[in-house]
Amino acid sequence: MPSFKRSINVRVGKKQVMYQMGYPKKREVRSAIASAVDECLRDAAGLIDARYLFTFENVLMVAHPAAVIRETLAFESHVISRLLEQCTKVIVFVATIGERLEDTARKAADEGNMLRSFALDATGSVAVEQVADHIQEMAGDVGRPWGLAASRRFSPGYCDWKIEQQSLLFDLADAHLIGVRLTDSGLMIPQKSVSGIIGLGPFDSNVQSYNPCPDCDRRECAGRR
Ligand code: SF4
Repeated sequence: MPSFKRSINVRVGKKQVMYQMGYPKKREVRSAIASAVDECLRDAAGLIDARYLFTFENVLMVAHPAAVIRETLAFESHVISRLLEQCTKVIVFVATIGERLEDTARKAADEGNMLRSFALDATGSVAVEQVADHIQEMAGDVGRPWGLAASRRFSPGYCDWKIEQQSLLFDLADAHLIGVRLTDSGLMIPQKSVSGIIGLGPFDSNVQSYNPCPDCDRRECAGRR
């Protein structure tokens, strides 16, 4: 299956950036910080180049903890295989906002302007999350005509899904077509990028509400829902 490549406009709000920077929604913010964020948001419009790729794969079979996607390719994770045993298809995606914003944040840090660097970094995090949210909506739209519901998204590194499997997603989705690559240590470049899967399964399954947390022993996990 070929990859589908799309670009979108993202609108990052000041409140979201403040929250990402660690300011609770109702807390008073010093004017210097508020001005720095305003400036970043003005600049960010020209620095964010949001784009993503996705492809569809069939779920061939599940033999826990492996969900077999192609004859020689499987996602290895109990959490992912329990999701995909309910799915007939899986969307594999990679998304990014490009390198310009993080280059600008790095330059600001090099020049000693840590506040601007921090605000730009927070803006980038909010922006890439918006792209991921957009992909989530898109998955619901593409599944519906097939009579399939979309799960929420899962990424390598989540729960028992090893980060090393990220390279499979990159190969499946042809991530290089949007300029995203992996370092030897598994870091995504540009760093403001995200990859993952979304399962597509029947509406009468629990694909949409699938949540592995209640059955998980890791009581202290920060990601628990
Ligand atoms: S508590 Fe939930 S998020 Fe955390 S490892 Fe377990 S299943 Fe994953």
